[in-house]
Amino acid sequence: MIETVGIIGAGTMGNGIAQVSAAAGLQVVMVDISDAAVQRGLATVGSSLDRLVKKEKMTEADKNAALGRINATTDKARLAACDLVIEAATENEDLKLKILKDLSATLNPRALIATNTSSISITKLATATDRPDRFIGMHFFNPVPVMALLELIRGLQTSDDTLAKAEAFAKRVGKVPITAKNSPGFAVNRILCPMINEAIFALQEGIATAEEIDAGMKLGCNHPIGPLALADLIGLDTMLSVMDVFYKGFNDPKYRAAPLLKEMVDAGYLGRKTGRGFYDYGKA
Ligand code: NAD
Repeated sequence: MIETVGIIGAGTMGNGIAQVSAAAGLQVVMVDISDAAVQRGLATVGSSLDRLVKKEKMTEADKNAALGRINATTDKARLAACDLVIEAATENEDLKLKILKDLSATLNPRALIATNTSSISITKLATATDRPDRFIGMHFFNPVPVMALLELIRGLQTSDDTLAKAEAFAKRVGKVPITAKNSPGFAVNRILCPMINEAIFALQEGIATAEEIDAGMKLGCNHPIGPLALADLIGLDTMLSVMDVFYKGFNDPKYRAAPLLKEMVDAGYLGRKTGRGFYDYGKA
């Protein structure tokens, strides 16, 4: 039974995972490398819960109780008490391998370990731990408190029992789990990113304008946001690196990045974060 959850990394994803876990009644230990990062993560959870109170989706008392269940710290030794630790640190393979190796030494031998990586092999990360059968990918979606999906990824070594416990945890924190095999992009990004890339090819070939492509996918396919607007939101540099990972990982030309995507990145038009992408956000 998972009662105490550890989260490594208090950034965008880590603090969201801390929020949904604490709101579900679990004890949370959220660690980061500096006090500033820990406090930022905690403040983000506080303001996110405040919004829920304002919308009358949560009471003030429940908010305070949830915040009281989060132990935010730079002391990784506190993770020793956890039944599950979810690694949600910066997306860097060497960093994650080191975190997982160090973690194994301090952790209760029965505890499960998960990673929120978007692109690194679960099978490979499992080898850094002392318990590859009790290691699994837990790919949350951004923003964590809003998005209903939790994509669970089985590495080659992941046991059936670990998957069953991860499914139970997903439901406990209010998410709907799906299971995917370890493969570049897992299931969701494998489908989403080539679709966005295809929209960029269509734009580049003059098939339709950006506005028409996005309107087409919204009105014709019921997508809440068009693929080009979504690319701007994700960041065109991130989109390009994902397509390059697919291209190399599958060794298949069907995943080649659209030349227009590369050119936009070369120009520094990275989407919302730079004020200009397929749309103009008035800041560039
Ligand atoms: P982020 O940059 O917002 O946060 C990462 C945090 O990790 C930072 O606060 C950083 O200080 C901390 N960190 C770095 N090294 C650490 C260490 N040794 N110990 C503890 N903390 C450490 O990044 P993010 O967007 O939250 O991404 C985290 C993970 O989630 C990545 O693996 C990413 O691929 C994955 N992910 C991100 C998204 C997204 O949309 N942002 C979606 C799904 C999955």
